[in-house]
Amino acid sequence: MRRTVMIVLVVIGCLLVAWHGLRTVDRTDRVADRTDLRVLLAYAPSMLDEYGYVLDAWRSVMEEEGVAVEVLDMYTLQDADPSAVAVSAPALILPDGVCRSLFSSFGPWVESYLQAGGSILAVHDAGVRSQKGAYLPRSWLAGVTGVLAVDYNDLGDASFTTAAIRFEDAAAAELCGIPPGKLDETLHLTGYGYGRLEYPVTGSRVIDSYGLNVLAWAETPAGDLPAVTVRRHGEGLAGYVSLPLGHLKAHADDLPLRSLLRWWLFDELGLPHLLNVENGVGAVVFNWHIDSNSEWTVIDSMLRDGLVREGLPTSVHVCAGADLNEPGDAMGFDAGGRGRGYLERLAPLAEIGSHGGWSHNLFAREVASGRWGESEVRDALRRNIECLSGVVSRPIVEYSAPAGVHPPQLMTGILEDFGFTSYYFTGDGGSAPNRSFADGAMLSTELIAFPVMPLRDVASFGEMESGPGLAAAEVADWLQGVSDFCEHQRTVRLVYSHPYNLYQYHGDLNYRPAFSAWLDDLERRRDAGLLSMTTMKDHAAFLQRMLNVEFRWVRDRGGLRVELHSEEGLAGISFALPAARYQPPSGEGLRTVTSDAWHVVVIEDETVDVVVDCRGR
Ligand SMILES: [Zn+2]
Repeated sequence: MRRTVMIVLVVIGCLLVAWHGLRTVDRTDRVADRTDLRVLLAYAPSMLDEYGYVLDAWRSVMEEEGVAVEVLDMYTLQDADPSAVAVSAPALILPDGVCRSLFSSFGPWVESYLQAGGSILAVHDAGVRSQKGAYLPRSWLAGVTGVLAVDYNDLGDASFTTAAIRFEDAAAAELCGIPPGKLDETLHLTGYGYGRLEYPVTGSRVIDSYGLNVLAWAETPAGDLPAVTVRRHGEGLAGYVSLPLGHLKAHADDLPLRSLLRWWLFDELGLPHLLNVENGVGAVVFNWHIDSNSEWTVIDSMLRDGLVREGLPTSVHVCAGADLNEPGDAMGFDAGGRGRGYLERLAPLAEIGSHGGWSHNLFAREVASGRWGESEVRDALRRNIECLSGVVSRPIVEYSAPAGVHPPQLMTGILEDFGFTSYYFTGDGGSAPNRSFADGAMLSTELIAFPVMPLRDVASFGEMESGPGLAAAEVADWLQGVSDFCEHQRTVRLVYSHPYNLYQYHGDLNYRPAFSAWLDDLERRRDAGLLSMTTMKDHAAFLQRMLNVEFRWVRDRGGLRVELHSEEGLAGISFALPAARYQPPSGEGLRTVTSDAWHVVVIEDETVDVVVDCRGR
């Protein structure tokens, strides 16, 4: 009976998704079956025209995090038996925007769902309005989360405001997956080039503190408001996040959604998922930018000092022309001429990418001013690529923008046409490589953006030295922190600099020993199988392969049957199972590593189908 109801449910769900014109019907629907364990992303059909892009943003990140997701409208959801849904879909997310108006009758449904063991995460404005669009004096979601998102009667227009976000303590920030460098000394979220960030939030207030754990606060003139909360309700968990996570992701701020999604689904709920790192091991990408001929002799010094090493592949991006600021100034790297020997010595140890277009500062200036359009950019980029590929005899597939000047609407199509697979990115600050969004839409399915990892408001060693003048010990701590984060979170982050930053500095702000020691430590972690160093090209290729894996988590009595399929092969693909719930699976061609709360199961054989039966505890 339960199964029949659920099958009807998915058919209706798919029809409604198609009916409402969502752009995102994809592989997760094809594999969805009612016995499949999955996460529900709910929406009110009346909100789709305005906020449909929010669903795209959520769904994209969930795909990249290897989560089985089903997008479902409230009508269909409400007709299903909440206790049956709690079994197959123990996590229900009510995203920002698309859940602003909900039926009042959905309150009792959620209550039953939580009593049956389901968990809900309410985001930003979910449930603050009635079905007819009026602000509710008291959202019925507040009864389960303990947090009233919006009290329009009291606050009026102040129901939505902006605020700095401060984590309760270092442990809360770590639990929420905030990487080092994204927090200041007082645990406020910061951004590259900005310092402390202001985020849109609701005028949320705690109305029932019983059992409420507040992990982060929004600081407003009216006082500290709860920004990230969780508490037990019934047999499940009820969480609230006051930031509009989907909206932020859809406008090039990936980190809040990704980090809090991982916290909620993995740390709080222990849901099985594919890992988006090769062999289940996190990795660091180091991206060197070579702007001019001031790097010529520095490159030989780096090679001599072991700052580029065999076995620690790195991404080196070169602006290849003979000029820097103006035609004829002869200050460029000149990769086809006087700089050629340096590049040839570096190339065997690195993936060589294109740092913009031919003349570093000229390109940045002309693109930023809008004087250069598509044809000028294409010409400059073509010259750069042809020169570099001529020297290194390999395709050039990694890109970085000079001075970070990267208007996405101009550049994305050009990069796709030239066959790039990845690019350095100053948006999505501090987050994992992803298919970035701008203005509410995914920019490209072919290009993986690699957000730069900041240390608060700076990112390169040169900025750390010439700006705040950070002590070498602090830079060393940050580098170590990035490694720790990527290892423990099994994720990837990109760090960037210029070679000369390690050779031209003031006073005792020499970060070279710190960088060298960091590489030593990376070699140790690599040898122990804990962390890798990789290139943008290799990680982008892996992420695309992982995104093409079809997967199911099928509940099977107390156990779980994991089914994976990919025509591109499954070697190096891995998945994580909560160790508290399942026994470590074994089988031919599988390697299982149990650490922390997870069994990480790595597929070692080159095969297109894998079925793993995992016994329950
Ligand atoms: Zn540059």
